[in-house]
Amino acid sequence: MNEAGRLMASLVSSDLVVGSGVFDVMVDGVKTEFDRRGIPVSDVSGLSLSDSDVRRLLSVSAFSRLGMREDALAARLYGSEEGARVDPVAGHVVGAYAGAVSDEALRASSSSGGLTTWLLGELLSSGRIDGVIHLKQSRGAGHPLFEYGVSRTLDEIRSDAKTKYYPGHLGATLPEVLAGGGRYALVGIPSVLYEARLACEAMPALSERLPYFVGLICGHQKSRHYADSLGWQVGIDPGALEWIDFRVKLPERRASAYGTRLVGSAADGKPVDITVPTSELYGTDWGLGFFKVNFSDYADDVLNETADVVFGDAWLPQYLDDSRGTNVVIARTNELKELLERGRASRELKLDDIDVADVRRSQAGLVRHGRELLPTRFEYLRSRGEFVPRMRYDGRQKASLARRHVQRMRVKMARESHSAFLGALESRDFAVFGKSMKSLTREYELSYRAAGMLAQLRRRFA
Ligand SMILES: Cc1cc2nc3c(=O)[nH]c(=O)nc-3n(C[C@H](O)[C@H](O)[C@H](O)COP(=O)(O)OP(=O)(O)OC[C@H]3O[C@@H](n4cnc5c(N)ncnc54)[C@H](O)[C@@H]3O)c2cc1C
Repeated sequence: MNEAGRLMASLVSSDLVVGSGVFDVMVDGVKTEFDRRGIPVSDVSGLSLSDSDVRRLLSVSAFSRLGMREDALAARLYGSEEGARVDPVAGHVVGAYAGAVSDEALRASSSSGGLTTWLLGELLSSGRIDGVIHLKQSRGAGHPLFEYGVSRTLDEIRSDAKTKYYPGHLGATLPEVLAGGGRYALVGIPSVLYEARLACEAMPALSERLPYFVGLICGHQKSRHYADSLGWQVGIDPGALEWIDFRVKLPERRASAYGTRLVGSAADGKPVDITVPTSELYGTDWGLGFFKVNFSDYADDVLNETADVVFGDAWLPQYLDDSRGTNVVIARTNELKELLERGRASRELKLDDIDVADVRRSQAGLVRHGRELLPTRFEYLRSRGEFVPRMRYDGRQKASLARRHVQRMRVKMARESHSAFLGALESRDFAVFGKSMKSLTREYELSYRAAGMLAQLRRRFA
């Protein structure tokens, strides 16, 4: 096997093929499909690929490190934008905001402040695009809950608003838009958008179809079974969950204390439609990383550096108390910045100018995980003899022993959660999941507390 073949084999065996679906348009015969864990996998192991096929796939793979890295791509895309600054974490920035749409109904039907849906609507109604490629509710029995698809009207864009903590891949949609023509805005999480950007580099025809990349900030990507696990806890067996709203705004609560609405049928056939504060459901603490896909622990693009505009939650003290939800926004192009500012001038949007450092602060845990603690995880993975991709940043170890242990536990819990849930499915008993995760979770909680106390002591005596 040559070097490219070995690298591809390492990516496959380390579970570092993103499964964005981009591979499907690069090489005939590659098909991205969901595996038993509910994770999209572009399985190339059974195909007889030529050397040039393998190189073509590696050139668009986020973790091969053979394509242009995010910062280099961003410099090409946004470096000549007037007023562009480069932040070491956020990347290229021409404007940073916190805000929401003024239309209360639109805001209520979105996850944060509704700015993503508003901007997508503006792109469509101004004729800049013919449609939006985003995660949409699937229709019909036997379908997953959500799939990537195209919205071509304002109504469609609005009805498919909201965050889906659910994976999707572009394997069916990209060939469709390539064949059909038109111009689209692509919405996605960082690794998916980065791979789509790399594919645009390799395929000018795809680049013409995708003039706008609209990014979501992403703590980590979940498998499909995350949704199943939530449904199971309210009496909806896996397979009987028909719909889920991961982000119900609960009045009188903080924006971060949102609920989950679950719709399906119970074992006796009775319909279930229930909204529960999310934190009351087992496994929803993001720090535990249950159902986290493996590549999320390797990603250092925390703020979607190759997206033209990026939306997240304003997890900042001045916005948290507003249960209606507020966005943070980074604009990387002046065209989209002006669109947002026109929305502010016409009072369709309420936007505060903020510093890009505030956007970073609003995502403090994510920035720590994706940047400061990445070397810690890589050191651990290397010590296990596992493949780790090249890093863009200073790879020196800076974390305390306790924090290092927390990172090891997070990797272990994420990996174990997939097989523990499959075990529960086989036993037809949700309790098996909790039992399988118990000792890891307990060890994690102890080390997390110890790391917190040590950090406090260090601050006190510094
Ligand atoms: C897996 C995941 C993890 C996230 N983690 C964080 C985080 O740690 N910190 C943070 O600040 N924000 C995070 N977000 C983003 C946040 O939840 C909101 O989606 C974002 O603030 C936009 O809110 P909005 O009200 O403007 O969006 P809305 O107006 O509700 O519109 C959201 C748009 O995004 C599309 N969409 C939703 N989910 C997906 C998806 N998985 N793939 C492709 N398109 C999708 C929808 O179809 C819709 O078009 C995450 C999002 C996802 C999907």
